[in-house]
Amino acid sequence: MALADRFGRPLRSLRVSVTDRCNLRCQYCMPEPDYVWLPRESLLSFEETSAIVDAFTPLGVDRVRITGGEPLLRRDLHVLIESLAAKPAIADLALTTNGVLLASNASALRAAGLHRITVSLDTLDGSRFRTLTRTDDLPRVLDGIAAAASAGFASLKLDTVVIRGINDDELVRLLEYAKTVAAELRFIEYMDVGGATRWTPAAVVSRREMLERLQSHYGAVLPLKEESSAPADRFLLPDGTTFGIISSTTEPFCASCDRSRLTADGVWLLCLYAATGTDLRRPLRAGATRDDLQRLIQAVWSVRADRGAEERLGMDRETTLVPVRSLKKDAHLEMHTRGG
Ligand code: SAM
Repeated sequence: MALADRFGRPLRSLRVSVTDRCNLRCQYCMPEPDYVWLPRESLLSFEETSAIVDAFTPLGVDRVRITGGEPLLRRDLHVLIESLAAKPAIADLALTTNGVLLASNASALRAAGLHRITVSLDTLDGSRFRTLTRTDDLPRVLDGIAAAASAGFASLKLDTVVIRGINDDELVRLLEYAKTVAAELRFIEYMDVGGATRWTPAAVVSRREMLERLQSHYGAVLPLKEESSAPADRFLLPDGTTFGIISSTTEPFCASCDRSRLTADGVWLLCLYAATGTDLRRPLRAGATRDDLQRLIQAVWSVRADRGAEERLGMDRETTLVPVRSLKKDAHLEMHTRGG
């Protein structure tokens, strides 16, 4: 029988972070002037990551997403992709990137066996991009998207975090751009997960508001009825274009969450909002076998009862969820360590 947690949720989707470093400094993720990094010696080697994934797959994990920090900063990433792509149990192998280094990597990633790619793109305006990320890399990101669009991936998605007063007037422009590269766009509500120290409730543009704005431009926007544990609800525009909205902040979807996260140093987190996780690196380095790790994972998942985003809905929203002093003490609380 498939492994299920206390709410009957299966263990299926694993997000694997390969680094906590990033080459952008997005205001909603890494707004601080400096950060505490994971010690280098604690980072899992590709062999260790692959061994840990092998302990997950017999328990039901068949979808793996490589993330970070910025995963393309990890040298020779294609080697890890090759080893994961060779595992028959993994039906879906995807990567989330900011796109800055994608142009020169897209075809190698595809050749290594990566199925799908998602690029984060919050604006098409160069000066906004600079304000938002503190770099001038928008042209590189757009080149990366173009390279991914022609590299033959099974799907290309673009993820946009929508923030009031920053990019909420670009919904239509981003959708129109996505059409030109045959990508499906997903709008993400701004979340106050660790790292988002500038988050305020007023900066959140809700799914409802996004839909109202899109309807007033395009006309009827129809919901697509799908049986899926994917975080995005998908919608259809009158011209047949589809797009998604990930409404983690105003309409969380904890009940169907089959995702968990492995940080680059081997800490397994059951929820994006979790305060602590299970260290899988220590037992692995102490000689634990695949069966030992599997037993540990099974024991932890079977009592999982996290509903982080739903619980957050019921809390006082005027204060930041994780204060900077806590983030400085434990890098595992940061979004860029958890992989988003
Ligand atoms: N560097 C890669 C990238 O930019 O896609 C992967 C890591 S990034 C942490 C993963 C995703 O988390 C990105 O799509 C990013 O926009 C999203 N993210 C980070 N902070 C967020 C926040 N406060 N609210 C919503 N999404 C956030």
